[in-house]
Amino acid sequence: MTAMVTTDPFDGDKFREECGVFGLFGHPDAGAHTALGLHALQHRGQEAAGIVSFDGDHFHSHRSPGLVGDHFDNEDVIKRLTGTAAIGHVRYSTTGETLLRNIQPLFADLAGGGLAIAHNGNLTNAMGLRRDLEANGSIFQSTTDTEVIVHLIATGGRGTLIDRLIDALFQVRGAYALVLLTDQALIGARDPHGVRPLVLGQIDGAHILASESCALDIIGADFVRDIEPGEVVVIDRDGVRGLKPFGAAAPKRFCIFEYIYFSRPDSVVEGISVYETRKRVGAELAREHAAPADLVVPVPDSGVPAAIGYAEQAKLPFELGIIRNHYVGRTFIEPSDSIRHLGVKLKHNANRATIVGRRVVLVDDSIVRGTTSTKIVEMVRQAGAAEVHMRVASPPTSYSCFYGVDTPKREALLASQMDVNEMAAHIGVDSLAFISVDGMYRAMGEPGRDDARPQYCDACFTGDYPIELTDQNDGDDPAQLSLLAEIH
Ligand code: SF4
Repeated sequence: MTAMVTTDPFDGDKFREECGVFGLFGHPDAGAHTALGLHALQHRGQEAAGIVSFDGDHFHSHRSPGLVGDHFDNEDVIKRLTGTAAIGHVRYSTTGETLLRNIQPLFADLAGGGLAIAHNGNLTNAMGLRRDLEANGSIFQSTTDTEVIVHLIATGGRGTLIDRLIDALFQVRGAYALVLLTDQALIGARDPHGVRPLVLGQIDGAHILASESCALDIIGADFVRDIEPGEVVVIDRDGVRGLKPFGAAAPKRFCIFEYIYFSRPDSVVEGISVYETRKRVGAELAREHAAPADLVVPVPDSGVPAAIGYAEQAKLPFELGIIRNHYVGRTFIEPSDSIRHLGVKLKHNANRATIVGRRVVLVDDSIVRGTTSTKIVEMVRQAGAAEVHMRVASPPTSYSCFYGVDTPKREALLASQMDVNEMAAHIGVDSLAFISVDGMYRAMGEPGRDDARPQYCDACFTGDYPIELTDQNDGDDPAQLSLLAEIH
């Protein structure tokens, strides 16, 4: 199949969650429900989607570049995904080609039977492991880090598949939320620090694993619990078994950026509402950094909950001073330069009647490269705003993520190159302020960051990486292996 360029050229100035996973065991509509679950997880990856089902005898697979709806709304595709168990995956990758064989779930015919695997996260020692496996004869089909786990299981000697999976998990480092499907069971696993999310749900007596609770809601399933950090959960005909192969040694370091931006606002993550958290971040931001302004305007859509919280705390009117066109962006494949130069205007338009002559507080979730912020500020000024004060609902993002989130190299992050005053001048605002790291933790219901034992992964703000970056420290290409797209 010919791969296509699907990167959205108008929305590239954000951190990007790389993947979402879903799995269902023991349900007659497993394939269709998995497609719906992937729909709800679409925000976690828009470049490709795949589902593998098992009908008791055979595995069935459909994997394609593009959005979930591009392929899995097709009745014929769903009809072919027969069986009562299925797993699915949505993927984001960097620009360029997304090869079919890199699209998950990956599938392998092992000596003990078929195995499908889908992964959210990124392994930080995958390149070294891959070199060792290749030196011992393993032949890789894809360029993803996830395949390293498959080969570790395949070459893992004796024992059950669960034993070999656990043995493989002891060898890999990094962040992972995995769903795996065998001819016997649906299996889920989270890394010992629990960096990436994974929840357990239930519908009609069948069990579900999903990256976020919003994927349970879409099929009318009940939330049961979060899979715990370091837990391997096995779902089969006998029910649900949670294994704790790593004990309780590793401190939990869940990704705090899931609350700031990645997760859907209607999800409840680790027992905490994403939407309510974002509002509290906005309120904390208003307490820390008041602005002399007439109204609060969110940068849509991700800045909306924080702007509501800011406006409530500051007792300022909340207004939709920027309107987003939801239908532009993905429709353009490789836009021409004549369209590209229009940039953010294709996606956002200032609501002139609301902001002309007013002092505006613009609230956004984050500043990455600063390119979009610069254009939005320019647009608001051109629409007649008297003053523009930007308030950002995350601390400055000064460091790259190596745990499954697509981030620019460090030197491309505006906050790694400039202090706040320089950034304000660069973006063209009258004032600029970010929530503090402690303020972000207070919004999470913590007294502040515990520097001796941080409660979350916050490495993109602090540079404090909770899991060793073995590949980077070994001098391997700092690109995350899971993000590599094959070149012709
Ligand atoms: S580095 Fe940032 S984006 Fe990456 S896992 Fe940690 S908090 Fe999340």
